[in-house]
Amino acid sequence: MIHDFTYLKPGTVKEALSMLADHDDSKIVCGGQSLLIPMRQGLLVTEYLIDIKGLNELCYIKYDAKEGLKLGATTTHRMIEKSDVIKKNYPVLVEMEDRLASVQTRNWGTIGGNLAHGDAAGDPAPVLITLGAKVKVASAKGERVIALEEFYTDIFESVMEHDEMIIEVQVPPMPAKTGAAYTKFNLLRNDMGVVGVGVSIAIDGNGACKDAIIALGNAAVTPIRAKNAEKVLVGKKLTDALFAEAGEAAAAECDPVSDIHASEEYRRHLVKVLTKRMAKKACEQASK
Ligand SMILES: Cc1cc2nc3c(=O)[nH]c(=O)nc-3n(C[C@H](O)[C@H](O)[C@H](O)COP(=O)(O)OP(=O)(O)OC[C@H]3O[C@@H](n4cnc5c(N)ncnc54)[C@H](O)[C@@H]3O)c2cc1C
Repeated sequence: MIHDFTYLKPGTVKEALSMLADHDDSKIVCGGQSLLIPMRQGLLVTEYLIDIKGLNELCYIKYDAKEGLKLGATTTHRMIEKSDVIKKNYPVLVEMEDRLASVQTRNWGTIGGNLAHGDAAGDPAPVLITLGAKVKVASAKGERVIALEEFYTDIFESVMEHDEMIIEVQVPPMPAKTGAAYTKFNLLRNDMGVVGVGVSIAIDGNGACKDAIIALGNAAVTPIRAKNAEKVLVGKKLTDALFAEAGEAAAAECDPVSDIHASEEYRRHLVKVLTKRMAKKACEQASK
């Protein structure tokens, strides 16, 4: 049963931020695809619900070769999945969205809501971390930009203050000779991942690894980078043996839990296998 609340519908971002500042006991709702579940279970009670879904000033996809990609917070998953400019410049984002939930959820759920919710099993965060993304958050006092890899602090927790909201996701341009790949393991194709692994790899003129970012979903209480695994790759000629070594390193450094979906041991195994596969795939894309 959903407890009573006062419904507020701001007409502008400024108005939304002032409502957040005025009401300590408030929650933002956008698509409601994550928020309404704990509300219906009675686990989350709030006095005010601030509905930002209609804020069209935050609903955009902008791309510029120098600046990269900018996604407004109320941009839906489906808009990202169907965007030609994203397909051309960040195909990994389209592939990720294609396996995120059902079309119905993608039609209504938003990128801002997904990242703010902070589910460690969420798909966008690991992919966006491999792409070096940042989030712009705003409050009535001003704005700040935070690297997504520094955004999460604990289970469903981020560095955002109560009076702040995500307004934009910023993704830098993909450097030349860089490839990125993401996959998740699940039993149903569009379920939340038991584990998700994103890898981006940049190679130099000789085919050696110039840079690597490996991000893991559902392999710790927050999305994390597997920095030891990245070190295995950087500066070396990339081979199947090296991808396997990176997988071993990622499995050793992650910190998964056991739950009804998988044991800790099985999750480590998945991290090992998927890191190896995604590193190889990212390398192949970088070489094209
Ligand atoms: C059946 C189902 C399957 C799903 N499968 C997947 C999946 O496979 N992979 C995956 O990644 N996700 C999955 N999800 C989660 C889904 O992607 C998210 O629920 C959705 O993107 C959240 O966006 P929303 O706009 O609905 O957020 P809401 O539910 O409206 O809000 C979620 C949280 O974010 C806060 N919030 C919302 N917008 C902002 C903002 N701009 N700034 C600050 N805080 C904000 C809210 O206060 C709330 O705490 C699934 C959800 C469902 C219902």
